[in-house]
Amino acid sequence: MRVILAQPRGFCAGVVRAIEIVERALLTFGPPVYVRHEIVHNRHVVDSLKAKGARFVEDLSEVPPQAVTIFSAHGVARAVEEEAERRGLNVIDATCPLVSKVHNQANRYVRDARQLILIGHAGHPEVEGTKGRIPVPVHLVQTEADVARLDIPRDTPIAYVTQTTLSVDDTRGIIAALELKFSDVVGPDTRDICYATQNRQSAVRELCKLADVLLVVGASNSSNSNRLREIGADSGIPSYLIADGSELRPEWVRDARTVGITAGASAPETLVENVIDALAQLDKVDISTMAGRIEDIEFKLPASLANWNPSKAATA
Ligand code: SF4
Repeated sequence: MRVILAQPRGFCAGVVRAIEIVERALLTFGPPVYVRHEIVHNRHVVDSLKAKGARFVEDLSEVPPQAVTIFSAHGVARAVEEEAERRGLNVIDATCPLVSKVHNQANRYVRDARQLILIGHAGHPEVEGTKGRIPVPVHLVQTEADVARLDIPRDTPIAYVTQTTLSVDDTRGIIAALELKFSDVVGPDTRDICYATQNRQSAVRELCKLADVLLVVGASNSSNSNRLREIGADSGIPSYLIADGSELRPEWVRDARTVGITAGASAPETLVENVIDALAQLDKVDISTMAGRIEDIEFKLPASLANWNPSKAATA
């Protein structure tokens, strides 16, 4: 069985930064440190940080006063920040800088007196965070049908922003529907929203031309991993989202000559290796990596952790 790995795949700079923030906070301040929501959507990552002393909570009321509290990469609403301040929590913000960029852009549009459309999935923490940072009501749309239902006069100035991990193809259709329905629409170039989403989606499209089956390593609640699986299915090959090798079903790959593997932005490479090991239990595997973009983007750490000194932390 040939196994071709997508390039790029797996961790993005925002996820690397968020995990490093928790690890440095644990070493700098000592456990426990509290993390609001899963720092990134991957159980293996969360479990390994738990083992080091991180405590994950969904609500700040679960955090003791003054405790070190980290906001996840998905971002938080202003009200959450204000509650943390009221309770005197020592906050470190691991919001991905590209998510913060969307927040800033959305607020600029609102200051320009435009009605704001947020293209994203209801209930996703990033969407909740973005909505909660805009001081006026936001129209959330998930589909072109949602655009048709918007009850806003045609000549109203409109702006849109999108969840960072959506499929570029999906958003293209929604943006086209907005431009058809309204006469004055502005928004960012969706290809520039998140380099990692764009690169992983482009790579998986190429990979699907080479593979008979696609395995996407990622968590079921990971938005970008779900989008990668959808792109595989839209390309016409059976495509499965798989958390790790234990979930591999032999019938998925029984007739495949070439299996393509990619991984969502929150899935560590060890899980890709784990899936390859599971394939190797079924057949002899010949592994290669497709040609693709090499990413070298890094995001700066928050100032409170940037000057962290490992030797000092070890003795602290
Ligand atoms: S997928 Fe993009 S926006 Fe999300 S954490 Fe990674 S780099 Fe940031």
